[in-house]
Amino acid sequence: MEIKSYDAIIVGGGLAGMGATIELAKAGIKVAVVTTTHPVRSHTVAAQGGINASLGNHPEGGDDSWERHAFDTIKGSDYLADQDAVENMVKEAVPRVYELEHWGVAFSRFDNGKIAQRPFGGGAFPRTCFAADRTGHALMHALYERSVRYKIPVYEDHVVVKAVVADGRVHGVIALNLVSGELIGFKAKAVMFSTGGCGQIYSKTTNSIINTGFGMAVALRAGVPLKDMEFVQFHPTTLYGTNLLISEAVRGEGGYLINNKGERFMERYAPKAMELAPRDIVARAIMTEIKEGRGFEDAYVHLDVRHLGAEKILTRLPQIRELGIRFAGVDCIHEPLPVQPGNHYAMGGIDVDKTTMSPFVKGFFSAGEAACVSVHGANRLGGNSLLDAAVFGKIGGQKMAEYIKTHEINLSDSDSLMEQAMKETKEWIDGFIDEKNEHNPFQLLNEMRELMMDKVGVFRSEDPLKDALNRIREMKKMVVEEGVTVIVKSRRFHRGLERTIYFDGMLDLAECITLGALTRTESRGAHYRTDYPKRDDDNWLKHSLYWFQGRGKPIKMDYKEVIITKWQPMERKY
Ligand SMILES: Cc1cc2nc3c(=O)[nH]c(=O)nc-3n(C[C@H](O)[C@H](O)[C@H](O)COP(=O)(O)OP(=O)(O)OC[C@H]3O[C@@H](n4cnc5c(N)ncnc54)[C@H](O)[C@@H]3O)c2cc1C
Repeated sequence: MEIKSYDAIIVGGGLAGMGATIELAKAGIKVAVVTTTHPVRSHTVAAQGGINASLGNHPEGGDDSWERHAFDTIKGSDYLADQDAVENMVKEAVPRVYELEHWGVAFSRFDNGKIAQRPFGGGAFPRTCFAADRTGHALMHALYERSVRYKIPVYEDHVVVKAVVADGRVHGVIALNLVSGELIGFKAKAVMFSTGGCGQIYSKTTNSIINTGFGMAVALRAGVPLKDMEFVQFHPTTLYGTNLLISEAVRGEGGYLINNKGERFMERYAPKAMELAPRDIVARAIMTEIKEGRGFEDAYVHLDVRHLGAEKILTRLPQIRELGIRFAGVDCIHEPLPVQPGNHYAMGGIDVDKTTMSPFVKGFFSAGEAACVSVHGANRLGGNSLLDAAVFGKIGGQKMAEYIKTHEINLSDSDSLMEQAMKETKEWIDGFIDEKNEHNPFQLLNEMRELMMDKVGVFRSEDPLKDALNRIREMKKMVVEEGVTVIVKSRRFHRGLERTIYFDGMLDLAECITLGALTRTESRGAHYRTDYPKRDDDNWLKHSLYWFQGRGKPIKMDYKEVIITKWQPMERKY
């Protein structure tokens, strides 16, 4: 089995990962990217609506500032975000957006030539910069093109299945080469996990099929704790039928939400912000309308943009129109779009501080959606996640370079650990291959995804959460004690085997989310308990941490203080 050697390994070639890679290459560090998909096929390319920065370009926007951006983000987070990290992010937002513009991101413009900005949910100013409704695509391509000049090796079609951690530091990672079916080791002095979100844990999600969250599970299993996993964002407007995202930009441009009585029902839930209240509030409002019989077919409400006119729809929302036509048979120039809430984003992730390094494992970094810095707390504002990935990817790359240059690490010290880990990983993966095929992993995976949607969704309460937790723990035991297996003739590009490996890790993440949701007896941001509908700062103004105790064994929890600097918690009203 082959073991390669680098100073730094970036796991995942999305917005965060490629941003870090460029900084490392600039600093002269020997770096490689190990990634399941080619960088420009990362989920970032699906991002539609935009990226926030207080440029203050909007002609009617007034004077925006980083302080206002920070306040909106912290209020949006229901005061669970770490305020020092938020301050970092919003201050860096302006230079980072200009830097990306100079690298070739084709942002949409106002008539005066400045970068255009649109209003987004929970923002007091129109501060979301965009490239029509294809912002992620524009960002990802510019960043990838930038990385090409540094000739950085990219190992694509490689899934990282293990992180090697010992003596409180990282030694490298082990990947499954999907093309050959072989394992390959990468020794490194520092490693960044920028593996994106975990939306595929839920049956209704806007996330691509690659967003299994498996990278988070690999970190958890290596002894790097996860943080705040119970906070799962449900986007209010996903297309009924496929749950493809219908961007908040549609409401930012002036779209209305309408129930079966023809009412703009947001009046009842957020009389000032209306459709542009934060996502947690709008998602609950839509679910309430549907539950109380004011939806359509008991499943969706209408998102109406007809009053915006064809010209605006064609220039500002061309992709949305196309998605409506292709996937729902609805042309939004003439008819309203059918929408319902769906899983969209993980506020939680790998616990790191504002340098993006784990406080528990030296040399282990994480940025982007896989990480929890935490800048989104209990609820993320639209446009802040591309920003998180763009800013902390860059900061992470710089901090990794600094770490590598200031620590004397001898890569050959990791040889025997890597070899041992390769052997154990091979045994674990071989365990998924058997002619008998006792339990079908795909059936169990589907059951888990439905369970999460039904019992750990927008509205939560004790009994359904307990049921879900019991079943997830049963499944975990079944996987370890009885085995889930696929039949393998050839290991080359064996998608079945790949998905089975993911499922094994996804069960741990599902347990973290459910256990956290059951334990947190309050409502905050996206976590809403019908049996505990109030926020409880006395007991719960704290981050949850999750620790792995072994495959098939229950996850252990503890807690960590929230960093509060200048913004004292207040009641959240819109
Ligand atoms: C449809 C959609 C629209 C969105 N729109 C917006 C928006 O308008 N504004 C906004 O701010 N946010 C938006 N978001 C959220 C935002 O796009 C993401 O949070 C962000 O792009 C994540 O970037 P990332 O670099 O962390 O991860 P990703 O871009 O998801 O990249 C992850 C990378 O890791 C690789 N990978 C994963 N697991 C492994 C593994 N085990 N081994 C090796 N490689 C691995 C993948 O192949 C991929 O290359 C949207 C999200 C979705 C789903």
